[in-house]
Amino acid sequence: MIRIGIIGYGKIARDQHVPAIEADEAFELAATVSRKGKGHPGQPCFTSHKDMIREAENLDAAAICTPPSARYEIARDCILAGLHCLLEKPPGMSLGEVEELARLAAHRRISLFTTWHAQHADSVEAAAGLLARRRLRSMHIHWREDVRKWHPGQAWIWEPGGFGVFDPGINALSIATRICPGALFVRSAELDFPAGRQQPIAARLVMESPAADGPIHAEFDWRETEGETWTIEVVTDEGGTLTLSGGGAQLEVDGETVETEGLGEYPSLYRQFAGLIERSESHVDLDPLRLTAEAFLLGRRNEVEAFEE
Ligand code: NAP
Repeated sequence: MIRIGIIGYGKIARDQHVPAIEADEAFELAATVSRKGKGHPGQPCFTSHKDMIREAENLDAAAICTPPSARYEIARDCILAGLHCLLEKPPGMSLGEVEELARLAAHRRISLFTTWHAQHADSVEAAAGLLARRRLRSMHIHWREDVRKWHPGQAWIWEPGGFGVFDPGINALSIATRICPGALFVRSAELDFPAGRQQPIAARLVMESPAADGPIHAEFDWRETEGETWTIEVVTDEGGTLTLSGGGAQLEVDGETVETEGLGEYPSLYRQFAGLIERSESHVDLDPLRLTAEAFLLGRRNEVEAFEE
């Protein structure tokens, strides 16, 4: 039994981590950390991760579900305290932070898991399998949602290090890096910043891959008010079209549904974490964060209409 504490008891911790931990017999929820003192009912709640590390009994692991700006310092303290660490996406604010955590975890023989929950959506592995030996003619990523619906009151997301529309967009990039049979690079990008905001509300990326002969385009937009679109369309060298929709949950090939089975994103992710701990391994995947960094590095900045919550 892996006794785990959740640090950062917000929307994703409540909605996904707690149910996944409670449903997995390898884990036992042992504590939560909430600076406001509003942790999971019935469990010890600490107001800082340092208190949890010092006082929680027989803790083995931590799931770090804060906004990304707080991740590095907390993860570092947890690794130094001997706790296996699961990092919510994105795993940090910079590649350097996560590389340093990976080095530290390896040195201390701690399992570090940089999770990308969208890679665990039920049809992503099947799509990766179908594309494994193909060349791509094109890939188009459409990721549109309503920021007011999905991030109500999350002021941090607009601040430096908050990622803006790349907070959902990085989910698309995590699927793209998993299913593309070669490396991906950003070649150009356009980022739309609302007047007075520090992070973009929309972005368009042009990417390339040695595995693709044509365009790889991504379009992220937080101004969608009619439901959400989380779709990736891939045309292969054979002319077939593979479509992943629902954020990777559904798969079609040439309009025909491909039946896939899976545990669901977070149960699957905790199964992988249990396996990593059992085998004393880490899984550190920086590719989606690297693409995001490339988009910010290469992107042209447009100022667009101010956004009010
Ligand atoms: P959230 O609702 O704002 O929750 C984050 C929690 O972390 C807050 O409740 C806050 O609790 C704590 N926190 C905030 N700043 C902190 C700091 N500087 N130090 C320590 N704790 C801090 O955000 P969320 O939606 O759960 O997102 C958290 C992470 O999960 C993000 O990286 C996001 O990309 C990822 N994620 C979110 C979703 C989603 O649908 N929301 C889906 C997948 C992944 P206290 O103030 O009580 O400490």
